[in-house]
Amino acid sequence: MSDYLLKSICYDGQIRVFTIDATETVAEAQRRHDTWSASSAALGRTMVGALLLGVMVKGDEKVTVKVEGNGPTGHIIADSNGRGTVKGYIANPKVSLPLNENGKIDVRGAVGTEGTLTVTKDLGLKEPFAGQVPLISGELAEDFTYYMATSEQTPSAFGLSVLVDKDESIKAAGGFMIQVMPGATDETITAIEKAIAEIPMVSRLMEDGETPEEILNRLVSGGEPKILEKMPIAFECDCSKERFAGAIVSLGKKEIDDMITEDQGAEAVCHFCGNHYNFSVEELEELKTNA
Ligand code: ZN
Repeated sequence: MSDYLLKSICYDGQIRVFTIDATETVAEAQRRHDTWSASSAALGRTMVGALLLGVMVKGDEKVTVKVEGNGPTGHIIADSNGRGTVKGYIANPKVSLPLNENGKIDVRGAVGTEGTLTVTKDLGLKEPFAGQVPLISGELAEDFTYYMATSEQTPSAFGLSVLVDKDESIKAAGGFMIQVMPGATDETITAIEKAIAEIPMVSRLMEDGETPEEILNRLVSGGEPKILEKMPIAFECDCSKERFAGAIVSLGKKEIDDMITEDQGAEAVCHFCGNHYNFSVEELEELKTNA
């Protein structure tokens, strides 16, 4: 089954809810980066959060989430857009920790509790929008929630969840975002808070076969949810040999000469997807003429 995200409104437009199954998307990132459990969960949660923010911008407009904590994973970057695709990077993919006191992957221990979460939106304007908050949890869902409240003045709640199998493969990944719109009644907010407190881990529900539609119903069953859009979600990297060629040209003639004489070629690796691009001596000579 392919990944998708549902956009919906409920409680007569007082609440906006997105639910997402990103299992294949996070699984692809896990395979490409060969991440271990705690790194997989930290990277996967960041990617799901970035997707939930990304689908709020238009088409090719971009949203970049950067988590810089003091934990062993180092920094994490997820790049998404209005088309529902995402790519992700984690500085240390090989972090695996004992389960926390709730029997779950210790994402806080992996990410750290001191640091920042930064969201940059490239909306095609002169200057990108950037908002930054300190990490308040390190579990990431609370940090995205805090970002929305502080930087975007939007009360919301995030659920971000990744389930990892014993062989490090991804069993399930997904989440939700609930936004409280202006004019929401106390009664509605109380009902939502109760549903959020009661919902089991989304990735466990997905492992049991629950769909984003069913998770939506768990969250807002009393609010007559209306689905506005069903959007396919996928891992996608926009790197290319041309882009790396441009980066090599910008290094200058001297650097390129070194690659030719010392290495008899060059190999570039994309940090986001792991694709390798090889440049022969002939190709480097050609690039040198443009440098
Ligand atoms: Zn790439």
